[in-house]
Amino acid sequence: MIRPEISFEFFPPKNIEATFRLWDTVQVLSPLNPRFVSVTYGAGGTTRDLTRDVVATLHKHSGLRTAAHLTCVEATREETLQIARDFAAAGVTDIVALRGDPPKGADGFVPHPEGFGSSVELIEGLKEAGDFTIRVGAYPDVHPEARDQAADIEFLKRKLDAGADEALTQFFFEAETFFRFRDACVKAGIDKPIVPGIFPIENWKGARRFAENCGTKIPAWVIDAFETATRDNRQDLLATAVCTELCSDLIEGGVDKLHFYTLNRPELTRDVCFALGVTPEVKLENVA
Ligand code: FAD
Repeated sequence: MIRPEISFEFFPPKNIEATFRLWDTVQVLSPLNPRFVSVTYGAGGTTRDLTRDVVATLHKHSGLRTAAHLTCVEATREETLQIARDFAAAGVTDIVALRGDPPKGADGFVPHPEGFGSSVELIEGLKEAGDFTIRVGAYPDVHPEARDQAADIEFLKRKLDAGADEALTQFFFEAETFFRFRDACVKAGIDKPIVPGIFPIENWKGARRFAENCGTKIPAWVIDAFETATRDNRQDLLATAVCTELCSDLIEGGVDKLHFYTLNRPELTRDVCFALGVTPEVKLENVA
């Protein structure tokens, strides 16, 4: 089995304890030599300054290639582009460009009167503003707002044609879901990389709620297995096994890059990576 290239998503911590946990996560996962790490931007644009600070700090102190998530929500075009320029000035040129989810309680995405109206417009703005590596979201289980999968893929193509370099997918439970999506994308003329998003499940209740909110279909066997494992207090073992098998199936089907949603909890992601043969890289000078 080939050794996949990996990347990790983190979220910005909101208090001191969470800050230590993020740093701990970085310490545990960085020896696995990720292609890049990314830092999310709170729904509704709520973590704008925090995301900016975390990205700059990670970039400066961890030695990891760091990508900043950026959304169109609740900001003018100028404010959004200024954030991107600030990232570039700090040496961060990788952006995950998203339309974003609206603030809690809001009823769907409403563009700011002077803001970007869609992810496509944001990508076009970023292309004009600087030399960014741009990644975008993709939805193997179909985004809840899409008319159908064909329309969803057509929109993904528009994002990539506007200048995005790569797509990172929402999480899903079965490799077949990803393969069907990948094949449909190729058929629609997409030739840029589509990297599966992998969610190691630490907390079944939370994962189930998250899946329901973002339109990820949960197969009946997953529900049965996690309900039983949670009752028997062996959720971690099941989560590691299920996640490792999903990744192995993807790799056997030709996938060579995986993007892990870590939720700032490193153990499960690390264990899955180890099981896939992704182990710390020991430098020769450290061995002698
Ligand atoms: P888009 O691709 O722009 O839209 C989603 C779908 O809606 C499209 O595929 C299309 O089917 C339809 N659609 C949208 N606009 C149009 C249009 N004008 N015409 C026709 N169809 C349209 N959210 C955050 O708030 N912060 C984050 O940091 C964050 N990180 C994420 C990282 C990844 C890898 C992913 C997959 C999602 C992330 N999200 C994040 C969630 C994301 O913001 C939501 O899924 C949001 O609802 C869609 O954002 P998008 O850029 O993927 O949407």
